[in-house]
Amino acid sequence: MAALLDCRVALAMTEFRLLKLFLPAALALAASAAAATPPLMPPTPMAPPRLLIVISVDQFSADLFDEYRPQFTGGLARLASGTVFRNGYQSHAATETCPGHSTILTGRRPSATGIVGNLWIDQSANRSDKTIYCAEDERAPGTSAADYKVSPVHLLVPTLGQLLKQPSPASLNVAVAGKDRSAVMMGGHAPDQRWYWDGKRFATDLSKPAPASVVAINAAAATMLAIPRPPLVPPPVCAAKAQPVRLEGSGRVIGAGALARAAGDAAHFRAGPEADGTVLALSAALIREIGLGQDNAPDVLSIGLSATDYVGHFFGTGGQEMCLQLLALDRELGDFLARLDQWNLDYAVALTADHGGDDAPERLRLRGIASAARVDPALETTMVAKTIGHPGALLGPQSQGNFIGDVYVDAGLASDERARLLAKALDFYRRHPQVAAAYSRAELSGAPAPTTTADKWSLMDMARASFDPRRSGDIFVMLKPHVNPIVDTSIYASTHGSPWPYDRRVPIIFWRPEMDAATREEPVETVDIMPTLAAMLRLPNAASGIDGKCLHGIQGIDCDR
Ligand code: ZN
Repeated sequence: MAALLDCRVALAMTEFRLLKLFLPAALALAASAAAATPPLMPPTPMAPPRLLIVISVDQFSADLFDEYRPQFTGGLARLASGTVFRNGYQSHAATETCPGHSTILTGRRPSATGIVGNLWIDQSANRSDKTIYCAEDERAPGTSAADYKVSPVHLLVPTLGQLLKQPSPASLNVAVAGKDRSAVMMGGHAPDQRWYWDGKRFATDLSKPAPASVVAINAAAATMLAIPRPPLVPPPVCAAKAQPVRLEGSGRVIGAGALARAAGDAAHFRAGPEADGTVLALSAALIREIGLGQDNAPDVLSIGLSATDYVGHFFGTGGQEMCLQLLALDRELGDFLARLDQWNLDYAVALTADHGGDDAPERLRLRGIASAARVDPALETTMVAKTIGHPGALLGPQSQGNFIGDVYVDAGLASDERARLLAKALDFYRRHPQVAAAYSRAELSGAPAPTTTADKWSLMDMARASFDPRRSGDIFVMLKPHVNPIVDTSIYASTHGSPWPYDRRVPIIFWRPEMDAATREEPVETVDIMPTLAAMLRLPNAASGIDGKCLHGIQGIDCDR
């Protein structure tokens, strides 16, 4: 009853403060399970933190970070007072959620993590649906890529939280996220806890009883979801962006929305501050209940904040909606960090994104990018197969509307027909005015390793970093800049997934309370995060044989120790 009352009070406000709303009830329920907090000794300066928190803000492009940085006053402002790499790169071409998350705590590119896309095709899979979801185990009977058993089985390399347990078995590895694939790719194999929002509640793939925190937060979230979310009242910085834009196709209007939601609308629950607040509330409650950061064995908590991605997809990145979302995220993160301070935790934070994002082409054109357009429907994979005279012989994942990334040739074809089809398909793609490049499997298999920093990579370099011969297609297709692969705009206005800087460039931030502010301009990669954090945790062996390198010159992190 008290929680419901709190909900109504909060909804009367113009700002959502979910952490403040949910956390007290969760903590009260979890109190009996929580270990007593021992008094902490003040940490030795720059000794490994007792709790390492790694946050991924889904679709938080470096462009958005740069644009809104002056507006942040809460958690994002605090983190930006650490060491900020403005030019981080998810260096691969297929800039989707699953590949992006797979790089952050492994130090490996998708060519090594095996996570080549959110979806891929396995024509030898022992089930009728040959599309494989990155975070599923398709061997589970009765499953499909849409109705799957969550699993880390496709992640081929260990995460930092896993590696930490080798020298430090008492260390805990916990993942909480708004998406299962985020929690799976950052937590890796056999985490101590893994919780992800399944559309209605937090769920897990682990065979463990739910901590009291999860039960309490799920109950509070159900209460929240059942009542409508009124529109947020935009501050002037957001109101200035409230220009209605009509989308091609559906005629839907975006740009001036205020993230309101009808009672019970679970889809729009995800696309707004409620979702991130709920993930942060559960993260905080689990820290308390499980006792993360309470002993000298450092723990890793990875947090996936997904609402920014859904807001970008539903409304694009350039309107009032994204402004409201990012300012709310800043507030929620501020509340979260303030709570950790109250608990006297010794913690460090790293923050990045799984990929960036592009705005809707209709708004980009209004802002002077004349080439921005929606993709030609003739580039849809099955249409291409028909056009070149091989109907049904090309297969492609559906995650970005079946227009970009991996295209597979029917494995049942004879080798000479297969060769003819491949040549015709490559020729078709390469002649199309919206296609930037199309590479064959043979070309990518033989491509040399890049020799430059990620900002100067060729399209071939990027596609090669997304190529795993065990899972990738026979052709890899990339569209020209600002050619948007969303055709049906009735739900999604825009997306990501391209090799262009708006999708590849993300912020990478390291923060500890003792650090001085530093903004670094040199290009780095998200695969550099893991070895840098391994140095922070004094785990040098964890960083051997990986793609990333420890980032030198960050205060308090000694790459050579
Ligand atoms: Zn994503």
